[in-house]
Amino acid sequence: MDKVLTFRLDDITPGLKMANLKRFEELFDSFDIRPILGIVPCNEDKGLIVDKIQPDFWDEMRRLKDKGWLIALHGYKHVYVNEDSGILEANTFSEFSSLPYETQKQMISEGKRILEEKDLPVQLFMAPGHTFDENTLKALVANGIFGLTDGYADRPYIRDGVTFYPCRLNEPCIPSGFDTLCMHLNNWTDEDFISLEDFLKNNRDICKSLDEAKNLFEPVPYNESIALQEKRFIRNKALKQKAAQSEIMQRYLKKSYSENKVLKLIKRVLYLPMLLKR
Ligand SMILES: [Zn+2]
Repeated sequence: MDKVLTFRLDDITPGLKMANLKRFEELFDSFDIRPILGIVPCNEDKGLIVDKIQPDFWDEMRRLKDKGWLIALHGYKHVYVNEDSGILEANTFSEFSSLPYETQKQMISEGKRILEEKDLPVQLFMAPGHTFDENTLKALVANGIFGLTDGYADRPYIRDGVTFYPCRLNEPCIPSGFDTLCMHLNNWTDEDFISLEDFLKNNRDICKSLDEAKNLFEPVPYNESIALQEKRFIRNKALKQKAAQSEIMQRYLKKSYSENKVLKLIKRVLYLPMLLKR
């Protein structure tokens, strides 16, 4: 099977770290690859405001669209309202999952309208936190959006009228089949840019824009084999998380140990923040 890696940028808002987006653009221009741009239409997530508000943000978005970057609707306000992990069981926070169909339809319609008003036609949906449910799919179709960037299989597939372009990676690596690298540029360091550039140099042939990648993979209808891949991915992810947590636990126990019982108790409390590190 062909191997293809496509690219998506999450959390694009007027308060983004523009210097990083510019650096990314230069890098991707040099490789002639166009990523998916996940824009929050009506951002209310303060965590996504990491720099001064860019006065020319929407002009910049239009300029990137004109270059062929794909526009994805990254939720509506990017505010998590519940703990539902959705059909992909990706995270325990969601802006959409488990909300009534009519509410979701309204949120998507309003988000799409805002982007379209800025002359940014929506080509894909990108759920904040990767969390969404069957009603989200229905609401997307009702709003004329027929593709999304998510899913845990090695090829694109169609579920309830929506094409899923799988996204299983947070770090650059050679995928099995089709995959998308999910990137949050706001917290990127020099190291991240250098490692991505190295990866692109070494694997140029498999790194593609989504429109090119689409030609290599005809989406298949959602079937048992896809469902099985999803289940396996979800299970493996849970196992990895557990292992990572227990690693942290091991380090914590070691670091906070003392022969002296009183001192040990104090150290156990003092080092508690270690357990919150991810
Ligand atoms: Zn996001």
